Amino acid sequence: MVEKEREEIDGIKEVAEVEIGLGESSGLYEQFLDKLELVNSKIKIPKQVYERLKECDSSVEVDLPILLDKKWHDKDMVKIYHAYRVQHNNFLGPYKGGIRFHPSVNLDEIKYLAALMTIKTALVDVPFGGAKGGVVVNPKTLTKHEIQRLAKGYVKKVYRFLGPRKDIPAPDVGTDANVMAYMYEEYKELSKDENARAAFTGKPVNNGGIEGREEATSLGGFYILDEIIKQKGVSGELKAVVQGFGAAGYHIARILKEKGYKIIGISDSTGGIASIKGFDPDEVARWKRSKGTVMGIPGAINLTNERLLKLKTDILVLAAVENQITEENASEIKADIILELANGAISSRAEEMLYGKTIIPDVLANAGGVVVSHLEWLQNIEDKKFRIDEVENALKEKMLTALQEVILSQQKYEVNMRDAAYIVAIERIIEKAVEE
Ligand code: NAD
Repeated sequence: MVEKEREEIDGIKEVAEVEIGLGESSGLYEQFLDKLELVNSKIKIPKQVYERLKECDSSVEVDLPILLDKKWHDKDMVKIYHAYRVQHNNFLGPYKGGIRFHPSVNLDEIKYLAALMTIKTALVDVPFGGAKGGVVVNPKTLTKHEIQRLAKGYVKKVYRFLGPRKDIPAPDVGTDANVMAYMYEEYKELSKDENARAAFTGKPVNNGGIEGREEATSLGGFYILDEIIKQKGVSGELKAVVQGFGAAGYHIARILKEKGYKIIGISDSTGGIASIKGFDPDEVARWKRSKGTVMGIPGAINLTNERLLKLKTDILVLAAVENQITEENASEIKADIILELANGAISSRAEEMLYGKTIIPDVLANAGGVVVSHLEWLQNIEDKKFRIDEVENALKEKMLTALQEVILSQQKYEVNMRDAAYIVAIERIIEKAVEE
């Protein structure tokens, strides 16, 4: 199979090196099953719905042979990357979910992230189901052309499963609007679908994308955080620490700074920085662009991600990857409010240990991305254009409605915010599934 695929790459007669990376299984899907069981104990999920939600509808695994720019002993070099697309559930509409390029991607993680998408889309009431994709790769080691080949190579393998009414990917960790543009171009070419643009969201604005999509995840999270802070009656300058400084992390830091918060800590995969005087996120972004890391910025202390999470702050924003707060460090977290922008950043056991703190769970905190992706999809399907103020108003309305539903569900079932969010989402899925 792999040999045959290699021959498909133009001009490659010899393969100098082949590597296949496979991420380790992470046990995350089990956490989703535990949540389903808990919700079932509260609202009794009809058997046919429960059985469907327990399993992913489909999981596709492919190998992507990618021609690298570098030569090896004067020969063209091909590297093989392992990739996935998982479709969890489509009770509410076409499957929807990002594609990540990250070295620790594995099937269990992608299944979990696909299931979270099912919950998230239902929670904010957009007519999509849940899916996720990923490639086991460190994109930082690839050139722009190699990224382009990888993006197109991915679509070549899975395009039959995608489409505006089937499954609609978006950017995630390690991918961005440019990657979506490469994927969309390849999909258009292969599928000949006249609505091809609507098969991907998070595209560049000049390529069918929507104003405001890039910051939507963070802005949606901010609306929730701001409302919760208002309801708590907290005032004065609040301190915030942001772990992860990519699409979600940069924008939340920027928005918080604009709204008067003091950003006292920021990190990326290389480590973190802290300063009691506070950071200007745009200055940190410029530094990171030129140095490849947030570390070393003048006037700040360098520290590890482990230490950054334990800083004394009012708000901790998790905007990196999964399993950042676990039973190992939960007891040392000092923030009163945690905004979980990154999916699965807090383990179930850690959440129990953080009892008493306000945790805004991933499925609510980062749902703004899919709300605006839905508007982008509508824009492409109906050939119209939303203005930025329309996007922001719609986003705020969706986020605050979901928060209100979560608070009511919390009171009714006496559960934490995460469990309440799952209950609201699954009640909506049951309503639709039973209707059919
Ligand atoms: P990104 O690739 O743009 O940024 C990820 C950032 O996290 C980078 O700065 C990277 O250096 C950093 N990072 C990676 N591992 C780290 C570690 N161990 N410690 C500290 N920092 C680390 O990705 P993104 O799109 O910003 O996504 C971040 C999280 O938000 C993911 O969990 C993603 O699923 C979630 N999310 C993103 C969107 C979106 O629209 N971008 C939507 C929903 C959810």
